[in-house]
Amino acid sequence: MSENKLKTEIKCLSIEELKVALQEMGEKPFRAGQIFQWLHTPVTSFDEMTNLSKPLRAKLEERFLLTVPICIRKQVSQVDGTRKYLWQLHDGDCVESVLMKYEHGNTVCVSTQVGCRMGCKFCASGLFGLKRHLSAGEILDEVLFIQKDCGEPVHNIVLMGTGEPLDNYDNVLKFLHLVSCAGGIQIGQRHISLSTSGLADKIELLAQEKLQITLSISLHAPDDESRSSIMPVDKRYPVARLMQACNHYFDTTGRRISYEYMMARGKTDRPWQAERLAALLRGRPAHVNLIPLNPVKESPLQPSSRETVHKFQQILERNGITATVRRKLGPDIDAACGQLRRRTLEEGER
Ligand code: SAH
Ligand code: SF4
Repeated sequence: MSENKLKTEIKCLSIEELKVALQEMGEKPFRAGQIFQWLHTPVTSFDEMTNLSKPLRAKLEERFLLTVPICIRKQVSQVDGTRKYLWQLHDGDCVESVLMKYEHGNTVCVSTQVGCRMGCKFCASGLFGLKRHLSAGEILDEVLFIQKDCGEPVHNIVLMGTGEPLDNYDNVLKFLHLVSCAGGIQIGQRHISLSTSGLADKIELLAQEKLQITLSISLHAPDDESRSSIMPVDKRYPVARLMQACNHYFDTTGRRISYEYMMARGKTDRPWQAERLAALLRGRPAHVNLIPLNPVKESPLQPSSRETVHKFQQILERNGITATVRRKLGPDIDAACGQLRRRTLEEGER
């Protein structure tokens, strides 16, 4: 494993970087295209790259690390086909991803970190803090190996698994380029959503990239008092600062922003909060997703009733804000993000 740490992860390289590396190895640059194609398939060893000579495969093996996640747990919903995977990475750390089957295609929800350090009070992913960032190649692996497992192409990607994507900014940006570039699996950026708890400075940085992805903000409360009590990030970037970054993002990219709003009983679901949310978003191209809270046992927060969610939605719509209530997928398997990894970690401790 220590030897692995010294090697460059080959899947993290862009085609240009691969060309340079091959030139340094005394190889023809055109090999880069062949290798790049292989790297965007779920190969498990350099020996599977059969159009390369054996000596070249051996040289690649010596110099690079080819990451291969191992599926150590899988749950398949009997209700709607949702699949949840727990992967073991090359250093033994685990992350989870989910495949959701929607009418508009197969959607994969990827993790971007092992754990998370944002500490949101309702989230199972943050319970153990941050262990490490995932590399761009490891995030790509989640997609590649799900495609392999389900035998179908993936059409959409959401960065909504464990981790705060913008806390792992460089690797996530690299992943977005790798997964959408020519020569790879080419998932169009309009088919990718990135969800963030609201790191305003990073949102502004991302705006400069002018990507076509959908930015999704986990707002969850329109007022700092409620928001900061469930999301510590609000103390660093209060709602007004966050909205300023969102304005900048829209002005720079022209992309409408999506707002995630979790319905927690007596905490975020009061009528005045719906009015406040509507006032906050008025005049901005926005879409609100109302998500019923998924209870986690460490938190006293409970989901709102269906009637309360419906009333909240009506107040928003009366104020001209479009809002949908998110359908819960995979009701018969561990639903909330981070729960499969959490359960496995707990079992390991026993
Ligand atoms: N860290 C990023 C992306 C991963 S979390 C973020 O926070 O946006 C993906 C989404 O799941 C976020 O909107 C998050 O707030 C939400 N979420 C986390 N735990 C939840 C729970 N117990 N119930 C409902 N939504 C939850
Ligand atoms: Fe991290 Fe997102 Fe969970 Fe908050 S909701 S702890 S930011 S993964």
